[in-house]
Amino acid sequence: MIKAMETCFTTLVIKSIWVPDDRVVAGRPIHEWARHCLVELAANGASLDELRDFCNRNGIPAPRGRYWSSTTWHSLLHPNCLLQYAGYGVWNVRGRHRRYNPPSDWVIVANAHEALITEEEAKGILAVRSRRRFVTGANTSNRTRSSPYLLSGGIFVCGRCGANMVGFYKARGRGYYVCNSVPNRRGLGCGRGVYVSQAEIEREVLAGLEDLLAKCADERQFVRQVNSELRRIWEQSHGYECDVSRRLVEVERKLSNIRRSLEDGLEDTAWANKRLRELAKEQERLLSLQAVERCVPQIDCRMAMAYRADVSRAIACGTNAEKKRLLAAWIDKIELAPETLEVEIRYKIPEPVVDSMGAGGGFEPPTFGL
Ligand SMILES: [Zn+2]
Repeated sequence: MIKAMETCFTTLVIKSIWVPDDRVVAGRPIHEWARHCLVELAANGASLDELRDFCNRNGIPAPRGRYWSSTTWHSLLHPNCLLQYAGYGVWNVRGRHRRYNPPSDWVIVANAHEALITEEEAKGILAVRSRRRFVTGANTSNRTRSSPYLLSGGIFVCGRCGANMVGFYKARGRGYYVCNSVPNRRGLGCGRGVYVSQAEIEREVLAGLEDLLAKCADERQFVRQVNSELRRIWEQSHGYECDVSRRLVEVERKLSNIRRSLEDGLEDTAWANKRLRELAKEQERLLSLQAVERCVPQIDCRMAMAYRADVSRAIACGTNAEKKRLLAAWIDKIELAPETLEVEIRYKIPEPVVDSMGAGGGFEPPTFGL
C-alpha cells in the first residue's frame, strides 16, 4: 500500500522514509486505491471478504502473489499498520517467534513519514474493526489447534491448485473440506470449489488405517514388512553392494587355487604373488563390508506390537489432537481431484518407527498396495 523506501537501524537513530506508491493501476495511483479501501470501505464497516473482492475485481496488485486474500487484509488492518498509514513510525511490534508484543512495548514516533490517512480516520477504522470482531470471531475458531477437522493443516490438499483443503461449515452445522482458495479468495487461482463431506472422508481415512493395521495382524509379517523397508532404505543410503558373502567365498576359492598351484610347482611366482596380493586386498574389503552389514537397523516384535497397540487405541478412543498426530504419522498425502471428484489417500510407514531406527533421509513411503 505504501512503499517503504529505506529503513536503517543504528544504535541511536532510527530513520525510515515512506512515500506513497504512485504507480497507476486501473486508472488510479495505488495510494489512491489504498485510501479508498481504508477510508471509504474499511472505515464504513466493509468486511475483510469485501475488501478482498474489491481489490481483486479492480486488478490492484496484492502484496504477495496475484490475488488478495482476507488474511492479507486482516494483517493490513492491524493497529500497528493503521498507525503507520497515519504517519507514525512503529517498531518493536513483534518479538521472538514473530509474536505480537503488547502495544505498551511498541516504539512509536509521530510524523515519521508522509501520512496516507488522518489519525481520526485510523481510529475510526480501528473502532469498526473491534466491533466486527465479535461477529467474525465465531468463524475463525476452526483455525486453532483444537480444530475439529482431523485433516486440516496440510495433509489434505487440492489437486488442482495445491492449496490445503480447509474446514468449512455449510448449512445445518455440517462440516466440509474445501480448497482454501474458496473461502480465502473466492476460488481465484483454482476453480469451482468441491465440498468434501467431513464425516465421510474422515471415516474413510480412519477405516483405511484400520485396514492397514489389520493387514499387520500377523506380528511376524508386520515386523518383516517394516524391517525389509528399513533394510532397503539403509542399503540405498550406504551404497550397499549386494552378494558380499557369495563374492567372499569366490575370492577365498581363487586364493586357495593359486596357493595349491604354487605347491604343485607353478613357475611364474611373480604373477602368483601379484595375484595373491590383489585377492587379499579384495578379501579385506569384502570382509569390512560384511561387518557393516550387521549394523542394518532392524526392529523387534515387542517394539512393533507396542506401537501398533498404541495406534489402535488412539483410533478407537483418542482425542482429536491424538488422532491428528497419528494421521500426520501414517498418512503421506490425501489429494482431491476436483474434475473427477476422486480422493486419493496414500498411507506410509510412520516416521517414528523409521526415525527411531536411524534409517534417515531419502525415505519413500510404501503404499501397501492401497
Ligand atoms: Zn484448489
